[in-house]
Amino acid sequence: MTSYRSSWPCAALVWHKRRPEFAMSVMSLLPILQYPDPRLHKVAKPVAKVDDRIRKLVRDMAETMYDAPGIGLAATQVDVHERVVVIDLSEDNKHLQVFINPEILWSSPERKTYEEGCLSVPGVYDEVERPASVKVRALDDQGKAFEIDAEGLLAVCIQHEIDHLNGKVFVEYLSRLKQDRIRTKIKKAQRG
Ligand SMILES: [Zn+2]
Repeated sequence: MTSYRSSWPCAALVWHKRRPEFAMSVMSLLPILQYPDPRLHKVAKPVAKVDDRIRKLVRDMAETMYDAPGIGLAATQVDVHERVVVIDLSEDNKHLQVFINPEILWSSPERKTYEEGCLSVPGVYDEVERPASVKVRALDDQGKAFEIDAEGLLAVCIQHEIDHLNGKVFVEYLSRLKQDRIRTKIKKAQRG
């Protein structure tokens, strides 16, 4: 069943307060593309150089994510087609994780189902099955390579955001019928 609720359960606990230290520097809230915008299906290009332009993008994306509020955001969702992802699963918005040019090196054969939501598909939550854990390599906001083993919600989130960079929105895992219903609901909401 597709359920429609006001917030993603894991998001609901989190992101009410903005990070005060973020308020000190100049930032912009970026508009988030809404499904079924065709720009959500563009494949993002690798970041060639992690420089001040990318660090500004990371700050703006983080601010946009905290403001929404959400637990993850891919650059594709703000119409920047470069491989940048921000995630913060903490309750105090103090654990920003930045993944530039993220690559999944390994996925567990074991799979798990989570109810997912997306800032680009507001009000829609549904179950998606994915590998339960993944090993990811990426660059941080200083251009330094790192690897992490992710499981649980972090594994879900990373895979969801990397999908965005590849032009895929989570609703594409659902049946045609559900996708049609979601498009109808969003069109109605946009009109109303
Ligand atoms: Zn999403």
